[in-house]
Amino acid sequence: MKPTSETRPVIVVGGGWAGIAAATELARHDIPVILLESAKQSGGRARSVNVDELHVDNGQHMLLGAYESTLDLLRKIGVNENDVLQRKPLSLQWYRPGKKPVSLNTPNLPAPFHLAWALLTLKGLSLRNRLSALRFARQLEKTGFTIDNDCSVADFLAQHRQSPALIHALWEPLCIGALNTHLHEASAQIFLRTLGDSFSHARSDSDLLLTRVNLGSVLPKPAMDYIETHKGSVRLGQRVSTLCIENGSITGVTIDNTSIAASEVILATPHTTARRLLSPHGLLQETCQQMARLQDRPICTVYLQFDKTVRLGRWLHGSLGTVSQWIFDRGLYGQQGLMAVVISGDGEHLQWDNQKLCAQVAAEVAAQYPQWPTPRSQQVIREKRATFASTVNVNQYRPNAETAVQGLWLAGDYTNTLLPATLEGAVRSGRYSAQQIINAHQRQRRQQQEKT
Ligand SMILES: Cc1cc2nc3c(=O)[nH]c(=O)nc-3n(C[C@H](O)[C@H](O)[C@H](O)COP(=O)(O)OP(=O)(O)OC[C@H]3O[C@@H](n4cnc5c(N)ncnc54)[C@H](O)[C@@H]3O)c2cc1C
Repeated sequence: MKPTSETRPVIVVGGGWAGIAAATELARHDIPVILLESAKQSGGRARSVNVDELHVDNGQHMLLGAYESTLDLLRKIGVNENDVLQRKPLSLQWYRPGKKPVSLNTPNLPAPFHLAWALLTLKGLSLRNRLSALRFARQLEKTGFTIDNDCSVADFLAQHRQSPALIHALWEPLCIGALNTHLHEASAQIFLRTLGDSFSHARSDSDLLLTRVNLGSVLPKPAMDYIETHKGSVRLGQRVSTLCIENGSITGVTIDNTSIAASEVILATPHTTARRLLSPHGLLQETCQQMARLQDRPICTVYLQFDKTVRLGRWLHGSLGTVSQWIFDRGLYGQQGLMAVVISGDGEHLQWDNQKLCAQVAAEVAAQYPQWPTPRSQQVIREKRATFASTVNVNQYRPNAETAVQGLWLAGDYTNTLLPATLEGAVRSGRYSAQQIINAHQRQRRQQQEKT
């Protein structure tokens, strides 16, 4: 009997959060699935790593209450949010060398009043700046946090008369933190979308969520277990080298000259790999040309191990006008005295070697916390392609999940979710592609039932 798309497993290529979400969703709907991941572990950019004796994440990650799809997926596979994540209302503080710190605290009020109050009571900024931020936020609410024509965040803030002091102390760190792209080139559309998702619906959307366990144990590990116990198979160390396409339809993939047949494939690799796999195929040239315009931006994480008694006193602490942007206390994960210092986006630090980078970061931390001893050891993780660059008009070049090839779908943070490169964007994209296949299977089943 000729296998139908109903009986052949769907292949998901790439075991990052997008691929995992897609495979899990298929497994949840009783659709056989094979997840192929080239690395020896799943999780992609959001994976756990061992660097010498340090068991950490491939860069510190943080989630938001607005990560609806991710939180829903965890629930659906039986992961209790409280077991893997800790949540608290948005509260941010920034150190400024030689100036008063800035702090933003959301009160226990419904959205968007919690934002209004937080802006009005921003510490470290003049009343004039606070009122200006409030007016700006109200304007955004009126327009539903959208703009028709994209422009840079810097231009947008200038149009709304946000002062340099306000930009430096509030909008700039929020923009680089959310988009991993500097203000002068960052897309106002994507920035506003992020602000809208966090502040315009429920108060809990702006909650900060930090993991209680390493990233691999939040989603990748429980999801792989779920897939394997629901008609699925996860195969690690399997690098897909070609997509097989015949007469406009996907027929499978190859790994080291071995073919695996499939009528449906979700390609959930980073955009650079996806483009390489798509490029030999004529039907996909337009998508490849579009994707060629995507750029990447880096994130560096410097792990500083202090004496175990050292505490930050809060989950995270920002820093303005320094190379270091955020310090996270890994004591939250039981790693006492370990601080993760995050530097998002481009900067001169990328030209420095690890020794110089660690010295600079350690000096900045010492200026903020003069009572701390010098760190006992340090490690740097540089992720050159941490995220795609959320630059002006980038949404025009982000491909849709649907492709010109029958049965081939794209997933990944870079696809056109309208969100910046985030775990939530990855999960949403994976679930979306899976849902299209689930819908097709359900249609096919209904048609078969009608025939019999
Ligand atoms: C340092 C750092 C900090 C970050 N901080 C945050 C944060 O705080 N909050 C947040 O929401 N997001 C954050 N992000 C972004 C987030 O990690 C990504 O958006 C998300 O992990 C992307 O998932 P993905 O599945 O789309 O892609 P990836 O994670 O890149 O997954 C793609 C997978 O495909 C595999 N693959 C590649 N080629 C092949 C092939 N030929 N065959 C088979 N498999 C293949 C790869 O090995 C990889 O596992 C951060 C990213 C980094 C790097």
